[in-house]
Amino acid sequence: MSEKLSFVNPTANSPWGTYLQQVDRVIPYLGDLARWAETLKRPKRALIVDVPIEMDDGRIAHYEGYRVQHNMSRGPGKGGVRFHPDVTLEEVMALSAWMTVKTAAVNLPYGGAKGGIRVDPKKLSQKELEKITRRYTSEIGIIIGPHTDIPAPDVNTNGQIMAWMMDTYSMNTGGTSTGVVTGKPLHLGGSLGRVKATGRGVFVTGREAARRLGLDLRGARIAVQGFGNVGSVAAELFVEAGAKVVAVQDHTGTIVNPDGLDLNTLIPISRTPAGAAGFEGGDKIPNEQFWDVPCDILIPAALEGQITAERARKTAARLVLEGANGPTVPEADDILAERGVLVVPDVICNAGGVTVSYFEWVQDFSSFFWDEDEINVRLDRIMMNALHQIWDTADKHKISLRTATYAVACERILMARQERGLYP
Ligand code: NAD
Repeated sequence: MSEKLSFVNPTANSPWGTYLQQVDRVIPYLGDLARWAETLKRPKRALIVDVPIEMDDGRIAHYEGYRVQHNMSRGPGKGGVRFHPDVTLEEVMALSAWMTVKTAAVNLPYGGAKGGIRVDPKKLSQKELEKITRRYTSEIGIIIGPHTDIPAPDVNTNGQIMAWMMDTYSMNTGGTSTGVVTGKPLHLGGSLGRVKATGRGVFVTGREAARRLGLDLRGARIAVQGFGNVGSVAAELFVEAGAKVVAVQDHTGTIVNPDGLDLNTLIPISRTPAGAAGFEGGDKIPNEQFWDVPCDILIPAALEGQITAERARKTAARLVLEGANGPTVPEADDILAERGVLVVPDVICNAGGVTVSYFEWVQDFSSFFWDEDEINVRLDRIMMNALHQIWDTADKHKISLRTATYAVACERILMARQERGLYP
């Protein structure tokens, strides 16, 4: 009945193409709610904005920005903002849709949204970064707000950028609107535990999955792709639990050490322009060899589409923990399943970040802030409850954890859709 969207042209392995296949796989498990499933295959609202700024040398530069609200049936839109030279509308659409599924999977009262600017922020001065952030926030200000759509950090964005976004929105609307973004610095209404929340969620779900597989974390070998907020924190927590990180890849290169990389030295270096490639305590190998490194647990924590069919055939890992959004293409998913490799999917594995973002938003509205123990106890409880429910669904229908997560989440989303009814 419905026409295909005209403004994207997804391929089988592109982010939106991947997402559409993930939705198709869950439809047989939705019962009567399947009649509403088409709503999952199109964003509610997509805004493209021009972001012009004056550069330090006086030139005027224009950048393309996006904010997509995929679905708001269960609550306001929620999702990060990515600054990256390869960002496209199609990618932001997929990321916004994965947020819809994720917030429903952990049962937070949110829909899904995402934003981005097509820019390499590493080429901007701090002043230019502030200008691009503020102009972008002002342009998308017509659709974001503490009760409508709440941005957060993603790749190449951080607490300082959230502070500028909060300030810009507040300047435009009057007052101080701390609840308009999450992932803010602590003295601007940020939450304890937010910076580490996503990596912590990856660890908590990974620890549980390892337990079910009978994989002892003590001595387990971990390979991490993407060593930013998500990858480095997850790596630290696994090392605390007795595992060793044998390979790390970031945008500067790949380093390996079968005896374990020293994170105390590696993490600070990876945050400098030299990146992980500047670390001396391991051997540098060509990037493609990262996928051959002997390991027990693989954590993709960089960008989408990284685990291709070919790489899925190569990996020695028994467990894949999707810290990144959309790192595994559908064909690779099937190959991993055939090979008996367990995948904890992004929409549950990396949901720790949005969960503590929710805590931050609740604390901002109540102007009452919790201590870090309380945050972490609540985070662990939400993640474990969600994971167990998903695991039961997977066992019941004999389906992958990914399809089970979609089944649990899509039922919640489409039930809300049905109960609200179609307007007008
Ligand atoms: P970040 O900017 O802190 O780190 C990104 C890392 O990926 C960096 O180490 C960078 O060097 C590396 N990288 C970039 N391009 C690469 C390439 N081509 N090959 C290898 N490495 C590359 O970002 P982040 O916040 O850690 O986000 C990482 C992933 O986790 C993204 O997919 C993001 O959507 C997802 N995620 C983040 C959060 C969050 O709270 N930050 C929450 C959920 C999911």
